[in-house]
Formats: sequence, C-alpha cells, structure tokens
Amino acid sequence: MNTFDVISPMTGQKVNSFPQMDRKEVDALVQKARKKFETWSATPIKERMKILARAAEVLAENAPGYAERISAENGKTKFEAMVADLYSSCDVTKYYSENAAKILAPVKVKGNPMMPGRKLYYVFEPKGVIAIISPWNYPFCLSVGPVVSAIAAGNTVVLKPSSQTTDCGIIVKEFLEKAGVPEGVVNIATGNGSVTGQALIENPDIDMYFFTGSTEVGKQVNIKAAERLVPAIMELGGKDAAIVTKNADLDRAAHTIAWGAFSNCGQTCIGMEICLVERPVYNQFLEKLMAIVKNLKSGTQTGCVGSMTMASQRKIVEGQIADATAKGAKLLPEGVMNCKLEGMCLPPVVLTDVTMDMKLMKDETFGPLLPVIPYDNIDEAIKIANSTTYGLSGAVFTSDMEEGRKIAARIKTGSVNINDALITFAAPALPFGGVKESGVGCYHSEVGLRAFTDIKSITEYKGGTKKEFFHYPVMEGSLEGMADAMNFMYAQGASKKIKAFFKVMPFMLKMQSDGKKNGKK
Ligand code: NAD
Repeated sequence: MNTFDVISPMTGQKVNSFPQMDRKEVDALVQKARKKFETWSATPIKERMKILARAAEVLAENAPGYAERISAENGKTKFEAMVADLYSSCDVTKYYSENAAKILAPVKVKGNPMMPGRKLYYVFEPKGVIAIISPWNYPFCLSVGPVVSAIAAGNTVVLKPSSQTTDCGIIVKEFLEKAGVPEGVVNIATGNGSVTGQALIENPDIDMYFFTGSTEVGKQVNIKAAERLVPAIMELGGKDAAIVTKNADLDRAAHTIAWGAFSNCGQTCIGMEICLVERPVYNQFLEKLMAIVKNLKSGTQTGCVGSMTMASQRKIVEGQIADATAKGAKLLPEGVMNCKLEGMCLPPVVLTDVTMDMKLMKDETFGPLLPVIPYDNIDEAIKIANSTTYGLSGAVFTSDMEEGRKIAARIKTGSVNINDALITFAAPALPFGGVKESGVGCYHSEVGLRAFTDIKSITEYKGGTKKEFFHYPVMEGSLEGMADAMNFMYAQGASKKIKAFFKVMPFMLKMQSDGKKNGKK
C-alpha cells in the first residue's frame, strides 16, 4: 500500500506516515460501516448515550497527550488545541450524551377535525452510513462534532480527515473505541482529497455527506450529493466582520477582536477578517488594539498565536498583503514583515488605509491579517459586512444591547456574537452553520442532531369506522358538505362561525350516521 508523510509546519520534520487509500480501500470501509449499521442502529439510544458520556471522560483524561499530537501536525499551540479542539469536543460529546434521547424522542402532534380518533406523531430514524470530510484548521473538533452527532443518532461513519491532520482522525476513532463504541462504527479513510476524498464522495452506498472545508471543494461535494439525491450539510468558508460602535467598551472590543482575528494564526472559519470602527472612536480603538497586537508572538508556546499550517495557505495570505500594500494599505506594527520567524509562522498584521478594491476585502484570508476601517454611519458598516459572497458569522461591539440586537439582525450570517468572538461554535446547544456561500444546513443543538436522521411521520387509527365519507363510494352530498365544513372551520368572528355551524350540521349528522352504519360506535 502507498503511504504519505505528514510534515510538521513548525520544524519541517516528518511527524507521521499513513496509508494513501485508493477507491478499493475506501469502498471496503464503506461496506464495513454498512455492515456495522445493522447492530449499531439497533443499540438502544440510552446505551449509545452511556458510551458517549464515557467518551467525554476518556477525552478529558487523555487531553494533554492528544493536545501534543494535534499541535505536532497542525502547528497550533498545545493550549489552543486544548481549548478549541479538545474542550469543545468534550462538551459536544457530553451534550449529546445527556440530550440525544430527548431530542430524538417521537414528537406527538395534533390531528385535524376531519380525521378524528387518530394518533399522529413523527419519529427520527438513523440514515445509515455518513461520509464526513474534515479540514486541517481545527482538525479534531471539526471531526468530533459531526462524528458524535452521527453515531449518537445511530448511524455509522466513514471519516476522511485532511491528509495534513490525519492523526486527528485516528484520535477520534481511538477515544470513541476506548469508551466502548464498537469497532467498525467509526472508520477512517486516510489520504488526500483528489483520490481518497473523491472515492468517498463517489461511493454509491453513502446516505449523507457532511463536509467542512473550502467553498470551492464544498460545491463539488454538493454536486455529487445532488446527483444521487442524498442530503449534504456544507460547512464552508467565511469572511466575518466585526462592527465596533462608538458606544462600545473599547478595551473589551480590542481584546476580543485581537483574539478573534489572530488565534490559530487567523486560520479560523469564523475568525474576524474585517474590522469596522465608528469614526469618533477609530483612533482610540486602533491604539488599544495595537497595544495588544504588538506584543503577540508567533510560535507554539502557550499565549503565542501558532503557525500557519499549509504552505499553500501562507502564499495566499502573502499575496493579499502584497496586493493591499501595492494599492496603498499600511501595515502595523511598522516593519512587521521584516521579522524572522520559525517554520511557516506569519506575524499578526493590522492594515489601515484599506480600500474595497483590495483582495483581502472580498476573498477569504484564512491567516493573521486584519484590516481596520473607519465608518461614518451604520448603514455603511452593514453594507461592507454584507458585501462578500460569504455569510458565516459576525460580531457587534456596543454597550447598548438594543443597538447590538438591531445590528445583529441586519448582518446576513449564520451566527452573530454581541461583545464576543468565535463562541457560538463552543456552545453545543446552539446550531452552527453558515448562509450564502458559507454553507448549507447546520450541526450542533437539537436541529443539528435531527439533521443526521430520516424523519418518518406516522398516523395510528385503532379502528371503529369501516368506511370514511371520502372512501368509495363517496357519501352522497359530500361535495357541498365539504365546502360547508371548510367554511365553518376557517370562518373568523363569532357570527360567521355560528352561521356556518348551522349550515354544516346536517352534513355532520349524516357523516355520523353513515359512520355508525359502517361500524363506528
Ligand atoms: P479543503 O476544501 O481544501 O479541504 C477540506 C477537506 O476536503 C480535506 O479533507 C480535503 O482532503 C478534502 N477534499 C479536497 N478535495 C476533495 C475532493 N475532490 N473530494 C472529496 N474531498 C476532498 O479545505 P481546507 O483547506 O482543508 O480547509 C480550509 C477551508 O475550510 C477554509 O475555506 C475554511 O473557511 C473552511 N472551514 C469552514 C468551517 C465551517 O465550519 N464553516 C470550519 C473550518 C474550516
């Protein structure tokens, strides 16, 4: 079997080597997941929840070692691996271990007056085999969230992690199996996107796709799903804006935005990539922001911003800096690009004198750049925030909560934080997803768990009437009677309702006697 090496972005040294799976090997994993689906879907949900509770515990117990492994192949600090990847994974696993049965319990609904005596409800059934494809930026939590959701709902999984962060996929299988998830429920397809990923999306036995990655590849996956009419949740790129009004606590805004823009070296789908500041407080905010940014360090020590993970992504970021400076942007702190850094690190860069024709105002950056732009009125700020093809997340900073809510309502994204950054993802009870070209559907929360199921509606009639008035032969007078019944049911106002009631009475009585004749008690 062919293998591929994973190289550390920080040291340039080989970290690991994994099998480069081809179509035959991927198909075998899908078959294995299909076979295991029979027993796993039949395992009582309470049993699955017990295993997930243990899984959260196993994850917490092994977190320091896992943080080291995540950091080695991704280049983020162990602290960021601990907080963003491991803690949020524990939390989503625990959340479903406590709530899955409640969320997936049958839902009873009310019937309608023309069909009395029925019990109506809908149930949630596992779909089957779910293909999950994940990226390299938060390689662990962006795999755990969908995998845990899928298996909590009774599905089995084939996970294809990004080749750069394959070990994160291996850890997902490892901790779940340590907790008691049977072998074969979670299967890892190791390899690149063009061979292994492509084989997975072309496998005819997949029941649902869950893709996290770029909008470009997401569209290809969605086309494959559409060809087979299989549902696909798409978690794609972003270009999030933060709006700082003159009413904001500027210290809070500066600290939160520095973290939202530069943690994980800016490689965060919901990271802030545009910062819009109301003109009267622009200079004051910039001063506070730069006081923080000038002390940020690249590298993998706790408190540093980490490293770029992929050489190709670093090139895109450098290209955006070159484009912006050629068009007149200024880089802060002064001389920031002259510093010599380890491995693939890039320094945190703030840009001023930015104009809308610069690449970094429309294309996703996915690196440590933050343009800070003054605005004069809120319409102007919202127009810029909504000007890209993306709609993932956003933030508003103000101490006037009413103002914050009004602005949040006008930002076209899947989530908005008021006086915060990034945290919508960390709350497993909140749905997470994007709009526009940032995605389709969402995960986390009850909405997200139900997305991994097929919904089946059921009606129950215990019997009594052998024939309804609408069965053949249709009861005489049913056409007029039905019109009268509808007038009664949907009439508004007491006098109209009373009039319609007397008109429909003969039909109702006839229906009853016809029902009795046909067996109704
Ligand atoms: P990517 O699209 O290049 O790759 C994502 C995954 O798809 C990888 O596992 C890759 O191997 C696989 N892949 C590539 N080509 C494929 C193909 N033809 N068929 C099947 N699979 C294929 O994205 P990336 O560079 O790993 O991640 C960065 C992107 O992900 C950014 O755009 C970022 O915004 C986005 N992202 C989105 C979210 C979100 O929740 N919305 C979260 C994290 C990252």
